[in-house]
Amino acid sequence: MPLLTERFTVNFAELGLTRTLPALEHAGFEAPTPIQQRAIPPALAGKDVIGCAQTGTGKTAAFLLPIIERLHGRKGTRALVLAPTRELALQINEELTRFGAGAHVRGAAVIGGVGMNPQTQAFRTGVEVIIATPGRLNDHLGGGTAKLDQVEVLVLDEADRMLDMGFKPQLERILARLPHARQSLLFSATMAGEVAVFARAHLRDPVKIELQASGTTAARAEQQVFLVGQEEKLALLLALLEQDQLSTLVFTRTKRRADRVGKELQRAGHELAVIHADRSQSQRKRAIEDFKGGKVRVLVATDIAARGIDVENIGHVINFDLPNVPEDYVHRVGRTARAEASGRASSFASPEEHDLLRGIEKLTRKEVRRASVPRESETFRSEAERTRRNKAASAPRPGHGRGAGGGGRGAGGGHGQGGGRRASSGQAHGGGGDGTPRSLGSWGPRRHR
Ligand code: AMP
Repeated sequence: MPLLTERFTVNFAELGLTRTLPALEHAGFEAPTPIQQRAIPPALAGKDVIGCAQTGTGKTAAFLLPIIERLHGRKGTRALVLAPTRELALQINEELTRFGAGAHVRGAAVIGGVGMNPQTQAFRTGVEVIIATPGRLNDHLGGGTAKLDQVEVLVLDEADRMLDMGFKPQLERILARLPHARQSLLFSATMAGEVAVFARAHLRDPVKIELQASGTTAARAEQQVFLVGQEEKLALLLALLEQDQLSTLVFTRTKRRADRVGKELQRAGHELAVIHADRSQSQRKRAIEDFKGGKVRVLVATDIAARGIDVENIGHVINFDLPNVPEDYVHRVGRTARAEASGRASSFASPEEHDLLRGIEKLTRKEVRRASVPRESETFRSEAERTRRNKAASAPRPGHGRGAGGGGRGAGGGHGQGGGRRASSGQAHGGGGDGTPRSLGSWGPRRHR
């Protein structure tokens, strides 16, 4: 399936771009990607567009470049971009700075977790493009500090995800406050279900661009799945990390599991960072910067926190837990094999996750290759043995309640502060005075995120 790899027949100038050409050249973008080839001309012509494209296809520039061309030399907040997460909003803003600075088109991120005042100021001074998460923009609407009456272009980025995350009421409220005569551009990894209904209700006669069937996974990622027990997952993760030096993004299903995996990797001597929704905005920003800059090799994340993370050269995506929603598998695997790079995606499926695996294979219409678990590896063996010992030590004994150190929070207790930062969470291991880590507790599936 062609992503950025297909033969290009047109250049950016032929798509109708002018003002942004110097910045594109400066960025080293040689040719438009397929989504850019197909979305830029109708977007420049002022048409509504639905782009079915996931992260890694160049969709951000596909909507930003036409906006910059249109807003050059004009004053006031004329464009609003809505994105599901703070990280994605910040990345879009970075891309806007990269391509819009020369054309004097400015952007401001209106996101949660940071102060309201600079954002109020951005509305007041009429920054041309506001890039917002729905929750925080609603706060500004409620407080009367948002100014959206001049908005001509609306972008809904990762619309499927915003709806999945329950932002529909906020989106409806925001859209009701925008001028009726506007251009709307909607991007989504899938056009199934709710997002199709939403698009029908809010876009006018849109040009539909679908480059790949919904659910197509990143074409170049080599995918494999390991059928393992829950108790073996940590041993497998450590064994895989030992096999190469690739930068690795590890997904867990819950915040708490992200913290626990982070602590265990740290114990094993890996340099890593952890991001999830309970970590502060500055912690999340620093974690991504450290990962992007190569300071840490491993980033452990939950889906929501990792959504839209744009890090070049992620070599390996590891699904420590399979996602509850099959579409999230597509998003996760899309983190690797981005643009020109190719990468690997490994998933761990315990028996209770086999239904989820079948759901993924149905969606992607492809069987994921079963890989053999490296049970003979020394790291795997010793780690699996350690887990067994800890489990036995923490099993309740008659008359003793829980075993020593086996309190319900396990080694990852205190989530939200320790979070696996090198040197910052060493004390969180607790356990015996001899440095023995506490029991992991159960790695069994949990419901809450
Ligand atoms: P996106 O899908 O918007 O997250 O973009 C994925 C990555 O591809 C980002 O790092 C972009 O800067 C990069 N990119 C976007 N368009 C192009 C292009 N035409 N040529 C090379 N890289 C691109």
